[in-house]
Amino acid sequence: CGIVGYIGNNNTKEVLLNGLEKLEYRGYDSAGIATLNENGIHVTKVKGRIAALREKVDAELHATMGIGHTRWATHGAPSEDNAHPHQSASGRFTIVHNGVIENYYEIRDEYLTDVSLKSETDTEIVVQLIEILNKEYNDVAEAFRKAVALLKGSYAFALIDEQNKDQIYVAKNKSPLLVGLGDGFNLVASDAMATLKETDQYLEIHDQEIVIVKRDQVEIQTLEGESIDRKPYTAQIDA
Ligand code: GLU
Repeated sequence: CGIVGYIGNNNTKEVLLNGLEKLEYRGYDSAGIATLNENGIHVTKVKGRIAALREKVDAELHATMGIGHTRWATHGAPSEDNAHPHQSASGRFTIVHNGVIENYYEIRDEYLTDVSLKSETDTEIVVQLIEILNKEYNDVAEAFRKAVALLKGSYAFALIDEQNKDQIYVAKNKSPLLVGLGDGFNLVASDAMATLKETDQYLEIHDQEIVIVKRDQVEIQTLEGESIDRKPYTAQIDA
């Protein structure tokens, strides 16, 4: 179970696959990536290792942002359907998740009785919930904050919205996640190891914070939407 996300220039696919290879030690029953470009969201998933994902990803795929995941299944058997990224009913929202959502049955029964689920994961509940809440608030950041506030359990999330190529939404609670800062790009990952090739500048994320990651700006927020100031640090790790 590892997450990587990238927003920057055209080498998204390589950054995601290289990052996932570095995270494979955390668990690897399945893996997947989602990228967003002018043709929309493109999702590739496999049951198996990153090498199999690399083989399956379209060699011609170009995108300036994306998210990736290595899975260690907790809810639903290892399979392509249960592999991340997971998408909302309309396909607008796509998410990767590490951890366990403890109240996912309650959320399903309260909010998602009209949604036909495509996987057996606790994770899909979250992306479906975000879509439902976005219909209510008509504001993706607000829908994401409200969704996260309803969750119990552990999570690191990276979310992309097909209608916005300029930001990745991130949150964490009891699962590791940090932001890597670059020149004209930014990253998120479960472990700095996944991004050392790209940067040595990082921002910590604390539990129950939301982060909006753009190419040239990162905004950390409370679950109430207030901005938090945090200084970056330089990692002292030999790649
Ligand atoms: N609970 C999620 C699942 O089973 C995420 C597992 C993970 O952290 O890889 O799909």
